[in-house]
Amino acid sequence: MPNLSSKLSRRAFGGIALATPALLTVGAASPVAAEPSQPAYLPAMFEAPMGSYRITALYDGAISLEKSLFFGPDQAEIDATLSGLGQTGASLATPVNAFLLQSDKHTILIDAGLGEIDFGPGVGRVSSALSQLGVTPEMIDTLILTHAHPDHLGGMLKQNAAAFPNAQLVTSADEHTFWNDDGIMAQAPEQMQGLFTGARSVFEAYKDRLVLVNDGAEVAPGVRLDLTPGHTMGHSVVHIDGGDQQILMVADSLLNADLQTAMPDVMAGFDTDPNLAVQSRRALLDRAATDQILISGSHLHFPGFGRFLEAGDGYRYVAASWL
Ligand SMILES: [Zn+2]
Repeated sequence: MPNLSSKLSRRAFGGIALATPALLTVGAASPVAAEPSQPAYLPAMFEAPMGSYRITALYDGAISLEKSLFFGPDQAEIDATLSGLGQTGASLATPVNAFLLQSDKHTILIDAGLGEIDFGPGVGRVSSALSQLGVTPEMIDTLILTHAHPDHLGGMLKQNAAAFPNAQLVTSADEHTFWNDDGIMAQAPEQMQGLFTGARSVFEAYKDRLVLVNDGAEVAPGVRLDLTPGHTMGHSVVHIDGGDQQILMVADSLLNADLQTAMPDVMAGFDTDPNLAVQSRRALLDRAATDQILISGSHLHFPGFGRFLEAGDGYRYVAASWL
């Protein structure tokens, strides 16, 4: 899907070319008139201060999801909403973002993209983005896994071993329990078996450094995991309180940012418990809109920092104005 990737990259970089020195280089290398010949190798990062932390969005690439994966109470309204957003094809380009969180004391990676998992061209770029930031795998002290799906955990392995030799792996106890349950795995459909083996291989690689937490746990100063089950049973969002600024990273509470912001009741084929996912999404969107907290997400348009506003029965995403 090189064309979609390059479109997303150019759109993202076009608006933020002046934001950081790193992106000035990117802007200069992305002339409007010429297609970049190798979009997969462009650096893809956006940094912002977050109180005592600095948060950097890392773009892993874009995956293509079939439109038919999304379903809900009114299929015609889903089609109309997507058409209104200019998304008329059978597949939907879905950006994959990870986040680096740095303070004086901690270097934290929130999810790690697809890594070596083959999910089409142009993905698996988190590790090169980290190295371009000067962050070596050894420097990561904490890995937060929002949930154990391939686009979040793939980059945590390198040739089936831990890619980050000094990092603790933090995830919710519920997530760990679900994917390690042999009874659940035995009853799961054939196409889900790979998800279980993938999750287990990451837990195994980090078994000596695994930190399993419950709802609301503080995993580093000001960094909290809040359980939002449904997409997976231990799916968590990350609340970062940097003192004078806060951000809520909503992970896969929105798998398709445009559609599920406008229509929060739309479910996705990847949801373990779609009805519970809708409940969690509605509660999260309500909280984010009421508090007007800055948000980002694993599949929001890169870099994805913005706010949710109430709009009819749904919500509207508005990009952060600091850009
Ligand atoms: Zn995801």
